[in-house]
Amino acid sequence: QLPLALILSMLIGYIAWLATANRMSFSWEINLGLASHEFEVFCQPLVSARNLQCVGVELLLRWNNPRQGWISPDVFIPLAEQQNLIAPLTRYVLEETVRHLDIFPKSRDFHIGINVAASHFHEGEIIADLRRYWFPAQAPQKLTLELTERDALPDVDHRVVRDLHRMGVNLAIDDFGTGQSSLAYLETLNPNVLKIDKSFTAAIGTDAVNSTVTDIIIALAQRLGIDLVAEGVETPQQAEYLRSHGVNVLQGYLFARPMPLSEFPRWLRGSTRP
Ligand code: C2E
Ligand code: CA
Ligand code: CA
Ligand code: CA
Repeated sequence: QLPLALILSMLIGYIAWLATANRMSFSWEINLGLASHEFEVFCQPLVSARNLQCVGVELLLRWNNPRQGWISPDVFIPLAEQQNLIAPLTRYVLEETVRHLDIFPKSRDFHIGINVAASHFHEGEIIADLRRYWFPAQAPQKLTLELTERDALPDVDHRVVRDLHRMGVNLAIDDFGTGQSSLAYLETLNPNVLKIDKSFTAAIGTDAVNSTVTDIIIALAQRLGIDLVAEGVETPQQAEYLRSHGVNVLQGYLFARPMPLSEFPRWLRGSTRP
């Protein structure tokens, strides 16, 4: 009688211990990874739909973990967000970007997109980090912070949003239309850019419901005067459809895959010029 209760409580204790141990090892892995340069920042070009000229890049994090090999950001980013480890990763991306600013065209019309978690907006932490890492570099390019709609809105403070706009930082809603609060997000962020999620781009010409959603997102952005970027463009048909419906900026494997920063200058030289 007693042994069963004892065994049960030991079992529960053991499970709890396992969970903590796992969590600790993940944060330990991230910190070790940062310290030993296992993370690498890649960039993927954004091109003008009109003339295919490169108008910006999105920075994407890669993790080459010597114990587990390449780990996809779709795996480690959500874990890092859950465990409050996302800010150090974002700082790393900011630092690396600033360190490589020279490789990007020196123009206010060139956009540098960085993915940030909504939790980083809490108490203006993102602004403190931009003051520390981004603004001192006096980058001529335009910074765009991409917030994914899957994140919780309550983290986003109206004053932080207002201050970022005042500082000339662009806000983009990433994966627009895939979350549960697209319209609330529009209101809270007052975004400069909507990124059409790749699931909607993939639906063009193949899936009636989702292509209708794409058309509606385009109409919505046009009515509100918000710029559009379509991601996941893989075929000339998708590119042509998006261009003819007024999407001015395209991103996807059709133009370029994400590449190490060191490869970007060569890609840019070889890319289409107007
Ligand atoms: P995302 O922000 O929606 O980034 C676009 C993803 O689509 C990237 O995946 C990119 O490699 C992929 N992609 C680009 N073009 C195409 C295409 O034509 N077809 C297809 N099928 N995919 C395409 P990636 O690099 O694996 O990143 C996955 C997600 O991880 C990102 O989605 C973003 O949410 C997150 N992430 C990546 N780097 C960072 C980071 O530095 N910070 C944060 N907070 N999140 C990041
Ligand atoms: Ca993004
Ligand atoms: Ca996206
Ligand atoms: Ca996505």
